[in-house]
Amino acid sequence: MNDHARTLIGQALQQAERFLLITHIRPDGDAIGSLLGLGMALLESGKAVQMVLDDPVPLQFRHLEGAELIKRAIQGDFDVSITLDCSDVSRLGKFGEGIEWHINIDHHITNDGFAKINLIEPEAVATAEILATNLDIWGFQVSKAVANALLMGILTDTIGFRTYNMRSDVLRLAAKLMDAGANLPVLYARNVYQKSFEAVKMWGSGLSRMQRRDGLVWTMITNQDRLMAGYPGKDDADMINLLTAIEDAKISVVFVEQPNGKVKVSWRAVPGVDVSQVASQFGGGGHPAAAGAELTGEIQELCEAVLEKTYLHLREDQRNSKNS
Ligand code: 5GP
Ligand code: MN
Repeated sequence: MNDHARTLIGQALQQAERFLLITHIRPDGDAIGSLLGLGMALLESGKAVQMVLDDPVPLQFRHLEGAELIKRAIQGDFDVSITLDCSDVSRLGKFGEGIEWHINIDHHITNDGFAKINLIEPEAVATAEILATNLDIWGFQVSKAVANALLMGILTDTIGFRTYNMRSDVLRLAAKLMDAGANLPVLYARNVYQKSFEAVKMWGSGLSRMQRRDGLVWTMITNQDRLMAGYPGKDDADMINLLTAIEDAKISVVFVEQPNGKVKVSWRAVPGVDVSQVASQFGGGGHPAAAGAELTGEIQELCEAVLEKTYLHLREDQRNSKNS
């Protein structure tokens, strides 16, 4: 099925002239890397390309070539519309309604296949990996700008090549991207381990409130924490990765209060535990090892409801893994 989708996508990319490319709200490195990777490859081959996103490009990704071309509005016509790294249209923000999507390229197992042509590869570590594998097959050059964008996507979704879904192929692909001009140490520094002073200060609040119950570890970041630290984003500043460093943590959860009355939840799990199922119960989604959702309500109440379901799920997955 995917081979057919791959062929159809190659034909569409070659034959059409005007493209609309989009990725998900609250974009992570893979979202921006995939958008820029495909967008710049098409632009450099002479196509007209609109890259859009219903959010500003996060500061840490603005060093990438072409980042300034990403807009928050659609201007004019296009022939082919493409979503990248996006599991369902609700993740497109204001662009989620009224647009017919031709092509959907993604690696989320929870992707509902909303486009005419869907290339969904859950075993890929990043959507950027799918693009890096296919761009030259589809007949496009991987320039330095494209290589940097795609390697950034792969690096961030694998947290620097260390998630459990890593394969040797991914390292070979990364080497190819380096040969094409990608600067691994710079991408690694800027997008994997460096954080702003304010981000690390906000971690302090989150860490001081950390709790656990058996293999479940969690914390929350409030609007007040964000204000006190002077952190400009609305995300957890990758605080979730600190919790996953705890050796007994089977599932880690971070709750981030949002100024608009919502609460962003992030889950991470060790192999054998699938948090995408819990996230789906709350209207979110993601991968077995990393999932998220956005809920509406009071943070303390949501926290209790989510933790209860998460704890039950952990017990169930552990029972199943003992029985199998
Ligand atoms: P994070 O916790 O880093 O925001 O997200 C982890 C994974 O879950 C990512 O792959 C992301 O795309 C997915 N994810 C996060 N939030 C949502 C959401 O609200 N809905 C869906 N469907 N997926 C999400
Ligand atoms: Mn991704």
